[in-house]
Amino acid sequence: MNEPSTTPALQDTPTYVKAIQTGGIDHAGFSGLLYPSIKLPLAQFFPFWTKKKTEWVKPAISHDHIMRVTVGLRPHRPSGFIVRSESLGNKTLIHNYGHGGSGWSLSWGTAYLVSEEVKKTQAKKIAVLGSGINGLATARLLQRYGYEVVIYSKDIPPNVTSNFASAVWSPTATLCDAGKFTPEFKTLLTKTARISHRFWQDFVGIERYGVEYRSSYSGDDVPFVTHGPEEIGSDIVDLNGEIIDVPEGEAAFKFAHVRRDWQLRFQVPIFLRAMQEDFRIYGGTVVVREFSKPEDIDALPEQVVVNCMGLGTKGVFNDPELMPIRGQLTHLVPQPGLNYAFGWASRAVSFNPRADAISCGGSTIPNIWSTEPDKAEVDRVIDGLIDMVNTRFVSA
Ligand SMILES: Cc1cc2nc3c(=O)[nH]c(=O)nc-3n(C[C@H](O)[C@H](O)[C@H](O)COP(=O)(O)OP(=O)(O)OC[C@H]3O[C@@H](n4cnc5c(N)ncnc54)[C@H](O)[C@@H]3O)c2cc1C
Repeated sequence: MNEPSTTPALQDTPTYVKAIQTGGIDHAGFSGLLYPSIKLPLAQFFPFWTKKKTEWVKPAISHDHIMRVTVGLRPHRPSGFIVRSESLGNKTLIHNYGHGGSGWSLSWGTAYLVSEEVKKTQAKKIAVLGSGINGLATARLLQRYGYEVVIYSKDIPPNVTSNFASAVWSPTATLCDAGKFTPEFKTLLTKTARISHRFWQDFVGIERYGVEYRSSYSGDDVPFVTHGPEEIGSDIVDLNGEIIDVPEGEAAFKFAHVRRDWQLRFQVPIFLRAMQEDFRIYGGTVVVREFSKPEDIDALPEQVVVNCMGLGTKGVFNDPELMPIRGQLTHLVPQPGLNYAFGWASRAVSFNPRADAISCGGSTIPNIWSTEPDKAEVDRVIDGLIDMVNTRFVSA
């Protein structure tokens, strides 16, 4: 049961969702959307129109609203992710791991790179190891290209790192370290991010996948750091859509500097569930199995095996570069109507409204393997956000 293949033309300019040129869509009012071209001229003649305040929904941030605290270990490699074929006994083993804090964003792109490697073999039946976002995206893409796929995995969602992500479009987050990646990797990342972004577009607006655009703000009292052209991701900022400097006082929170972009967001439980369902609908089978050494994998019946075990790769293949970057999120009771994300940059606190929670973060602590929640970090994030609400919220 094959689907038509959607292979993005690599040389094509990707289809971006262009941000709407008005400030109206974030707010409760719709005037900016309905009358974008007449808003300014009319405001010139009738200045009282501009005095109407936007009524921002105030986020309900409180220690009493905490539902759960989750900790995930991002699979980080200082020189970036790996997609590479090698031989394992008489099999072809294709690695696809090490996505750091960018695994959701890049998943379809690296899955596509894997599919290019798979096409070099004669195999029709493929084993995919791992059932996180990368295992599922890889398995689904291979199904779409006509392969029969079996997933082997120690755990399945929700018990995977991918379930503990924020998860927004962030194709360079804790992906690689400054000075550790090569120009070749930067070029590969650009290609991968553009392909991935294009694949994600096919899910936007289809309710059962939970992929959407939301406005996301970042505020601070000091100017934002500008990134140089040599930095990773400098040539894919356009994938964020239009980034706007919001005039002081016109965002939900008062800061000297506020930026807004349209952020591609993935509703984590909804998307993972839909991927698991799609995988089964298109004939896939899942085998719960743990691998502890390469020989276990060599014993599988499939001739081509794709490793999407994330950080679990370290225990099996001992990649010395692979390390955890711990991240903790504090999830508050969901707040219907809260439709924007906001972060206080220099305090490293932010809230992100999702269907299942207001997800508050965030932390990036390298080389810590513990997944025990840290109470001090919960207090830092929630107290920081309460402080932001109490001292910065623009009251109506
Ligand atoms: C707090 C936090 C916030 C994040 N926010 C974002 C974000 O906003 N945007 C973004 O793009 N990314 C984000 N990430 C990063 C993203 O979550 C990871 O890059 C991604 O989850 C990695 O996916 P994966 O499929 O490679 O690994 P995993 O999700 O860890 O899946 C690995 C799979 O392999 C299986 N496995 C492991 N070892 C074995 C073994 N020995 N034998 C058999 N099976 C095995 C596991 O059971 C699992 O099924 C965030 C991460 C964290 C922790």
